[in-house]
Amino acid sequence: MSVHADLLARHKAVLPGWLALYYDEPIEITHGEGRRVTDAEGHTYLDFFAGILTNAIGYDIAEISDAVRSQLAGGIVHTSTLYLIRQQVELAEKIAKLSGIPDAKVFFTNSGTEANETAMMLATQFRRSNQVLALRNSYHGRGFGTIAVTGNRGWSASSLSPVNVSYVHGGNRNRGPFRDFNDADYIAACVADLREVLATATAGDVACMIAEPIQGVGGFATPPDGLFKAFKDVLDETGILLIADEVQTGWGRTGEHFWGIQAHGVTPDMMTFAKGLGNGFAIGGVVARGDVMDSLTANSISTFGGNPISTAAANATLDYVLEHDLQANALKLGNKLMNGLRHVGDENPVIGDVRGKGLMIGVELVEPGGDTPSARAATKMLEETRKRGLLIGKGGLNGNVLRLAPPMTLTESEADEALEILAESIAVTNEELT
Ligand code: PLP
Repeated sequence: MSVHADLLARHKAVLPGWLALYYDEPIEITHGEGRRVTDAEGHTYLDFFAGILTNAIGYDIAEISDAVRSQLAGGIVHTSTLYLIRQQVELAEKIAKLSGIPDAKVFFTNSGTEANETAMMLATQFRRSNQVLALRNSYHGRGFGTIAVTGNRGWSASSLSPVNVSYVHGGNRNRGPFRDFNDADYIAACVADLREVLATATAGDVACMIAEPIQGVGGFATPPDGLFKAFKDVLDETGILLIADEVQTGWGRTGEHFWGIQAHGVTPDMMTFAKGLGNGFAIGGVVARGDVMDSLTANSISTFGGNPISTAAANATLDYVLEHDLQANALKLGNKLMNGLRHVGDENPVIGDVRGKGLMIGVELVEPGGDTPSARAATKMLEETRKRGLLIGKGGLNGNVLRLAPPMTLTESEADEALEILAESIAVTNEELT
């Protein structure tokens, strides 16, 4: 048995079967540099999924390594939020300012799940209600509350949840009943649905709505700009809080704006974040209106949340994103990639839709000659791109959406390289399916 096969067998023996692994023969990554990673067998790949949007700026970045090393140099990693942590305060100051939320305060966690659990705890406490609105096709994490507001059958177990959740339209536009509507009619239909749900399925005293500005796991499903402003106007009528889950959409990845929700011309009451902030180091958090954050009267703590190592890495990552204007790079190269993919789609009917913003691009695959979601095409695409040295993601309720989200430091020539590999792989997939 090869070393690789042995590791896979050991993985299967002691880790749960439902822990998702990509590829027929899963990859063990051991090195990284720039936008490229190398596996244990020496194959190098261009990483177009940035971990899972975790490695926002790529691999082996001196600024990140130096920041983390400087923490280790102290000889101890004193991890406890019972003491002052300078880089935690500095990071909170930056995020509060960037959030645009009035009088903002930040609480750090270790993951997106914990961030969303915290945000919903704050909202339900502030509003004295356990009723929460979520979007269909959403994904918010693996906690007891976050699983409840995950409206995606493949990932949810919400029937067992303690949260009183009602789902509204506004998630996966491409597959919903309003799919043929233009933007304005779509927004109007979603708002009418929201009003209907509030009037008929809730007791009226709803705590919050939690929503991803672009649904990540749901297949980079991208709503028309303005949807969340229209929602917020309705929510504001009765003080329902809006939580924007920016776990995938934050830090400039969507190109036009620093936060995904800003495309909608609205400031939420809270935002949650994680993934890319630590460039691989575990960190998440909530940035909230001061009155909402301070409404908690009981003591609270996160033992590891905001620890010195993660916050040092996060400060360095955030500084890097801002100093190198990676948001502008995401916009430029995202548009280039989307244009290129649409061009490929013109010749290959297996591509049903290309969508997204910045370096968050979804390619929906369909059975040729129709509109049926093609999970087999997505599986084939993963294998074909891997063969050619490109790692990509997949997702969507039907498992038929390719997700492209490279590190935001992507270069023009790497974008060209990826487009070439994607075009070749699409042509092979298209031919096999027809
Ligand atoms: N929210 C969104 C939008 C996500 O995409 C994810 C993870 O994929 C989460 C929350 C949960 O984050 P984590 O896996 O860090 O707990």
